[in-house]
Amino acid sequence: MATISTSAKKGFQQAGLLGTEGSQLDLYFLDLALALAAKGKDQVRPNPLVGAVIVRDGIIVGRGFHRYEGIKHAEVLALEQAGRLAKDATVYVNLEPCCYRGDGKRTPPCSDALIDAKVKRVVCCMTDPNPRVSGRGVAALREAGIDVTVGPRISAARILNSEYLVMF
Ligand SMILES: [Zn+2]
Repeated sequence: MATISTSAKKGFQQAGLLGTEGSQLDLYFLDLALALAAKGKDQVRPNPLVGAVIVRDGIIVGRGFHRYEGIKHAEVLALEQAGRLAKDATVYVNLEPCCYRGDGKRTPPCSDALIDAKVKRVVCCMTDPNPRVSGRGVAALREAGIDVTVGPRISAARILNSEYLVMF
């Protein structure tokens, strides 16, 4: 069996190309985010299914999922629900937060909203293969000093959004 070095593995994980294990708590909240995302089924096309859960001190303070007609993205809905409690919180989301505007896109970047809300950490299952995002959302968050984990539950996240992923 082929093996890769620890540093290469870490690089792949940071790029969202390889899953990471994640703590039990991370997995629990990511499963909730995945379940929320699934609620948008048949409503989000051509957008991806996205669910977000915001946790502060072990308590869920915000949750949201995307419906195409609702326009607002899951992260923004969850941030609105959390209000000021989003500060220093951890955000669990099944897909990398978006980071661009224009090109017919109807919402401002979620990366900006997360930075403005001063969240402490973001955990996402996978990067967004859309070339307009593709790791830039994660990079923007990290540049702002937010701790970002990419990779736990990557298989479940890929299966959930298989229809979206084949577009890229
Ligand atoms: Zn977004």
